[in-house]
Order: sequence, then C-alpha cells, then structure tokens
Amino acid sequence: MASRPDHYATLGVGKKASQEEIKKAYRKLARRYHPDRNPDDKQSEARFKEIAQAYDVVGDPEKRKQYDSGTGPFASGAAGGFGGFGNFDFDASSMGDILSNLFSGSASGRRVRTKPRPERGQDLEAQTTISFDQAVSGAQVPLSVPSASTCPTCRGTGAKPGTTPRVCPRCEGRGIETQGQGMFSISQPCSQCGGSGTIIEDPCPTCHGAGAVRTMKRYRVNIPAGVREGSRIRLPGKGEQGRNGGPPGDLYVITHVDPSPIFKRKGEHLEVEVPLTIPEALRGAEVQVPTLSGSKTLRVKPGTAHGTVARLRGEGPPKPGSAAKGASPARGDIHYRFTIDVPKELSSEQEKAVEELSKAMNGNPRARLFEESSTGTGAKGGS
Ligand SMILES: [Zn+2]
Ligand SMILES: [Zn+2]
Repeated sequence: MASRPDHYATLGVGKKASQEEIKKAYRKLARRYHPDRNPDDKQSEARFKEIAQAYDVVGDPEKRKQYDSGTGPFASGAAGGFGGFGNFDFDASSMGDILSNLFSGSASGRRVRTKPRPERGQDLEAQTTISFDQAVSGAQVPLSVPSASTCPTCRGTGAKPGTTPRVCPRCEGRGIETQGQGMFSISQPCSQCGGSGTIIEDPCPTCHGAGAVRTMKRYRVNIPAGVREGSRIRLPGKGEQGRNGGPPGDLYVITHVDPSPIFKRKGEHLEVEVPLTIPEALRGAEVQVPTLSGSKTLRVKPGTAHGTVARLRGEGPPKPGSAAKGASPARGDIHYRFTIDVPKELSSEQEKAVEELSKAMNGNPRARLFEESSTGTGAKGGS
C-alpha cells in the first residue's frame, strides 16, 4: 500500500481544524481545481482528485476518527472509502456528479454552482408594418430591435474591472436558501444574491452590475412574398445573446399588412367586389377587373345574380414557402364577386326606362313564397 497521504496538508488545514473549516477549505480548493475551470489540465485534475479524496475522509467525522487513529478502513486514505475512485474516468461531467454527491450532505442537497450554467438567450419580438403591395411581392424592411448584449466593460460579470464577484456568504454559492428540516424544508432563491450565488461588491460603472447593456440591433429583414397580416417570421439566432456561452435566442418579426382598398384577403385567395349595372347583369357583359399585375377582362354571363363569384385561378398572392428552388411559387386565386349597382336616385330618363322595364317584366317572383306548402304554415293575407 502506498504511503499514507496527508489529507490535512492536501486541504491546507491543521490537524485540529473544525469540520466547518475543513468544509470551507475544501470548497475553496474544489472550485479552484475543478476540471470545468481547468480544461485539459492534467495537473489540476490530479490535484482535484486528491482534494476530493482528502475531503471524503476528513470531511466525514466518522472516517476522520479512523484516519486520525490509524485504524479501520480509512486509516490509509486512498485505499479505503472512496469506492471505485481509482478507476474513475475523470471527465468534467462526472466531476459535477461527484461534487453534487459530496455536497449532498449539506442542508439543500443541491449542486453547488461551481460554474454558471450556459443559458440560451431570450427570444425577441419586433413588429413591422408593410403595404399591401409589399406583402404581395415581398420586401426588405429595416428593423431596429432593442436588445441586451454583454457589457463590454466587465464582459458580463457585472463587477468593476479588476474585481471579481464574491461567493455569496448567505447561501455559500448555492443560490438557494433552505428553511425547515427534512421533508418539510422549503428551498427558495437566496435573498442576498437573488439566486446567482455571487455578490458583486464593486459594480461595473457601465452596466451598474447587470452585466448587460441595452443596445439597438439593426437588421434588414426579408419579408417573403405573400405574407399575411399577423405572420410571424423567425430569424434564428437574432434574439438576445446567450449567457455563459449558451446559444442566442431567436427574433420573431410580427408583420402587419396595411389593407388594400380593392383586394380583401380570404385565406390564401383575394376577393374583389365588382359592381355591375342592372343591364350588364341582365344581358351579360365583358368587364375589366383589376389583378395584382394589371387588369384582365372577365365575361359576365347574361342573367348574373347579385353575389355571383368568378375566379381567376393562380392570379392571387404567392403562397409563402411554396416555391421550390428556382421555381415560381404557387399562387392563390382572385375571386370576383359581382354586385348589382342599384342607383339611389333616378333621372327622369331612367325613370321612364324603368317603367318600361317593369311593364315588360310583369309577374311576381315572390308568389312562390306564399304558396301553401306541406311543411310551411302558409302565409295569410299577403295580397
Ligand atoms: Zn459591466
Ligand atoms: Zn446567496
């Protein structure tokens, strides 16, 4: 068996040190030599292992007694207690587990924050308003988005350059406080550090300790052709910066479309109201109707009723996302709804013409509404 390691020397404490002092010394050293902080550093790794072994023995009053007396399984240190430790593959992720196991004897049972966790940046939302024509043909619009970015003075620590945040004395870096005992304990964010686990004594003059500053990010956003009112366009990675090396969030651009006085959006199609004169509706006609690119001629059949719809297929707005590379996108239709234009007043000439017309078109089209039917009650006193 190897010579007995001096666990007290490893932890830098005297043989008479209290359990509390040993724990403090261990925490300090474990933080300094933690593999997360010293990637690819074999020496730190070995040191960390020693520290962990030492604390496993003298950090436990029972094992410490055996170690001090030179008897029992922990008398010789490494050979004893830390089950399987010698075969342990030391990588940073298992380190975290070891640490949390070691600290699980503390009140919270939660992992100590040896290194801040990477956090994805928040998503941002911005609004833009475009014209109807821009919505149909697509547009590139400038956009300014207020966003938080890492403070350049303190590089995000929130501490004045040259100073470092201190481990919070209240929660000892855990970021949470536990009240009560056992099953009835309640954990909540530390009241002193707000859950960060650290305290900033000299705040950064630029960001006043926030670690971030508000900036305006400017983008030119490509709005795809055919976009609709209220569409959300996602710009991946254009949201808030991530923290501690986490990825950035996304930016969502909510697009508002100014309505057109002529074209009404109906799902993926457009609708246009086309007024007809009474003679056009009666006799049929060829009428010019607007399209997105100009105009077209539509044939109105004789006897067209109010509300009749004619369609021009593929003349509508592009369907966003429908274009294969290089190909032109699929498009919706335009629905032309014919309405019959009824004049509010008539000239004397029109009056005469209408009189002629009403003579020619005698008969009552509503008569059938008043016929006795098997299901209806039959209208009484209509004549
Ligand atoms: Zn700062
Ligand atoms: Zn705290």
